[in-house]
Formats: sequence, C-alpha cells, structure tokens
Amino acid sequence: MVMLKQKTIRTQVSCSGIGLHSGKKVQLALTPAPDHTGIVFRRVDLNYYPIKADIKYASRLSYATNLSRNGVSVATTEHLLGTLIGLGIDNLYVDIDAEEVPIMDGSASAFVYLINEAGVRHGDAEKKVLNILKPIHFAMGDRRVSVYPSENYQITYSIEFDHAVVGSQKKTINIDGSDIFENEISGARTFGFLKDVEMLRKNGLALGGSLDNAIVIDTDRILNSHLRFKDEFVRHKILDVMGDMGLLGYAMRGHVVAHRAGHEIHAGLAKKLRDNQSSFELVPVSTLQVPVEHAGVKNLAEVPSNY
Ligand SMILES: [Zn+2]
Repeated sequence: MVMLKQKTIRTQVSCSGIGLHSGKKVQLALTPAPDHTGIVFRRVDLNYYPIKADIKYASRLSYATNLSRNGVSVATTEHLLGTLIGLGIDNLYVDIDAEEVPIMDGSASAFVYLINEAGVRHGDAEKKVLNILKPIHFAMGDRRVSVYPSENYQITYSIEFDHAVVGSQKKTINIDGSDIFENEISGARTFGFLKDVEMLRKNGLALGGSLDNAIVIDTDRILNSHLRFKDEFVRHKILDVMGDMGLLGYAMRGHVVAHRAGHEIHAGLAKKLRDNQSSFELVPVSTLQVPVEHAGVKNLAEVPSNY
C-alpha cells in the first residue's frame, strides 16, 4: 500500500479582491511551502508576520473566523482554509497585504481556480489525518456540533431558518475525493439577511458586502438573480465548518454532524477535540482509501467501471 505524501502547490499564484467585513482592497498570493509547514498566513504589509492556521489563534468568531497572534490578525480565513482541506493541500504560505482574506465571489470557487492553475506538488513527508476515536460534542443551546468515528471525512449539516427562502435544509457529504468538494461545495456562496445589514455595518462588519459576494435575503426573496444550488445555504455551511475544523491542522477521518451551528460552535468543537488527546490519533493516509479486496488489482482493466 502506497502512503500519501504531503502536498503543496507547484508555483506561486495570486489574485486581488476586497475584504467582506473591512471593505478594504487586498492582494492574496498563495506560495509553495516545505513539508510540515502547515498553512501559514503571512502579513506582507507587516514584514511577512506569520500566523499559523491553528485553533489556538482563533479569535473574534462572530460572522467570520479570525486568527490573532500578538495583536496581529488575519480575518475571514474560513473559505480559503476549507478549500485547502477540500483539495488536500497540507503546506502553504498565504500571503496577504491587509488584515482580511479577500471574499472574492463569496464562495471557494476563486481559490479552487487558483490552486488548479498552480498545480500540486508532492513532498517527501507522509500525509496524516486526524482519525476520530470517540464522539465529542459541543453545544450552545440547541446550536450544536459533534464528531463521530468514521472511515471517511463526512459532514452532515442542518440549518433551520424561519424564512420562506432558506427554511430547513440538511445535507450529508463525503469529502474524500476533491471532485466532490469542487463540484458540490466550493461554489456555494456566503449569505446574509438584509435586515441585519445595518446592525452589521454599525459594528464595522460587512462593509465590503454586496450582491457580488453574498446572497442577500430579504423578507420573502433573495435579491440576487439566482441561486447556484437549491440548497446553496447549507452547502455553504459545510464549507464553513470544513474551514473551521481545518484549524486543527489536518483533514479528518470522522463524521462531523452540525445543527444550526456557526463559527463559534465549530471552533468550540475544534478546541474540545484538541484538549481531549484520547479522542483522536494522527494516522498516515494511503493512496485512495482502497477497499482491501481491490488492493491487489494490477491491471486497470480489472477494476469495475463503477469503482
Ligand atoms: Zn462562510
């Protein structure tokens, strides 16, 4: 059985956009990084000050997941981190010249495009995942998230809004295999309610928000021309939880089940996991999770076509 190696990108790629909350223009460059680097944000405007994507730096968790170390912050990390988990990128420098990661179109599409442009390079070190050994739960009222042992990285998310357009949505997805992430999750945009915009702006949030980077929901309709998926809202929540759980530094072999949760709840689970060392182990990953009965197949023609 061949063990998977850690991955970075082949060459530097960049784009520019604005921060959803700050409204400020920002240049983003994804830069290849050596084995065992993990994902490290660097503030180009502050002498490349590094902040690792690590749950211990999580701060200010309402409306976005921000990281902060010694007073230096990077904001709205979740969509990019979710993308890196979804595409299996282990090591990367994320260089930004302002405090907030650009929101692009509110989804992960631009980040997927950039990484596909750059191409992927394997290192020499073994890739590891966080194998969940026992269930862990975190809740605030009826907003909750749990993780259970599982053969694959699965996420089940359910949302419930007292709103005709959003309503109740539930989706389960198996993240292993980047096509699933690319096709089913990466295009789902962030969303917000028009009635909250004034309050958010008073608090210095959503200053860059517009119909170009968010689904905006009015009392009985969306203001955008269309949805990309009928259940785009719950798909976006799956992207968010992938990004937030990515602050543990690894993809998972486990089943995350979230109900009406958000960044604060996701981060609560991540911290609880980190603090319960007996709840997980780090294990190497083999090439594909090939079922044992297929592992000996040498000729591709012998592989059943639906496999
Ligand atoms: Zn989001």
